[in-house]
Amino acid sequence: MQNGSPESPPSTPGVQLSADSTMGHLEVRGVGKIYDPEGARVEALKKCSLDIPAGDFIAIVGPSGCGKSTLLNILAGFDNLTDGDVLMDGEPLATLDDPPKPGSDRVVVFQNGALFPWKTVLQNVVYGLVVKKQMPESEANDMGMDLLARTGGLDRIAQVFPGQLSSGMQRRVEILRALINNPRILLLDEPFRAMDTVSKTNMHQHLLDIYDTYHKTVFFITHDLDEAIFLADTVVVMTTRPGTIKLRLNIDLPRPRNRHTITSQQFMELKQHAVSAVHEEAKKAFERGERELA
Ligand code: ADP
Repeated sequence: MQNGSPESPPSTPGVQLSADSTMGHLEVRGVGKIYDPEGARVEALKKCSLDIPAGDFIAIVGPSGCGKSTLLNILAGFDNLTDGDVLMDGEPLATLDDPPKPGSDRVVVFQNGALFPWKTVLQNVVYGLVVKKQMPESEANDMGMDLLARTGGLDRIAQVFPGQLSSGMQRRVEILRALINNPRILLLDEPFRAMDTVSKTNMHQHLLDIYDTYHKTVFFITHDLDEAIFLADTVVVMTTRPGTIKLRLNIDLPRPRNRHTITSQQFMELKQHAVSAVHEEAKKAFERGERELA
């Protein structure tokens, strides 16, 4: 992982949002998943193995229906696996024997957003801390304000309700709501998919700033290869269903990244490398009648 920013993460008395990049190592070992609703038997993942170092930003690309969300759901503890296992920091996270178990050490941000419309931005951001009674509400609020202020001066919208915000702004708040729980892993399932190019570009910068500051392991699903290469340390291309790993590409573009990164020769070369793998799988999926979105 390369991190360019020496800036230290925010902290308030009694609270430390850790930037410990030794946590969040994931080992996906021979994972398989068969959905079998009423005997329909869909093999979504097959012998899927992936080592994700602590603090790595990994982007997963692949045709629609290849099992990206299935893998994310297994990591999040929303669904079980039917083969293999997953370790987090050397401890079992998902196994054949144990029921799936979500946890605040792995937080998910989805593409459709999930802010409570009746709560203010600040109330949304501190929701997890308050519900878990991790600290007095006033302390949680201080921490929330601190975090909002440090990420693009968002403390100015602390008392605003989500419905008054653009979708980009809502997504920024959601990422902070996930981050404040100090997870080991941030799981993002196509969070910027529905956005226009300008909003997407702003979101990329926002996410990169957070990544450069907090050094969390990020597992990021996308259909957009440019987005994947721009953001990630590692781009993983999955095969069409049953999903397995087709290509693992090390993205050694320097950080911090900015708009010049995307027009660099190095970026173009990396894209060239990944594009044929992505299109090959997209074509297979298309020929099989699945929706092509890669
Ligand atoms: P992706 O995220 O890459 O688009 P998914 O992980 O959502 O792919 O789906 C992988 C495959 O598993 C698809 O064929 C999908 O239809 C199937 N699938 C996903 N969830 C279920 C489910 N709950 N029951 C049955 N099949 C499912």
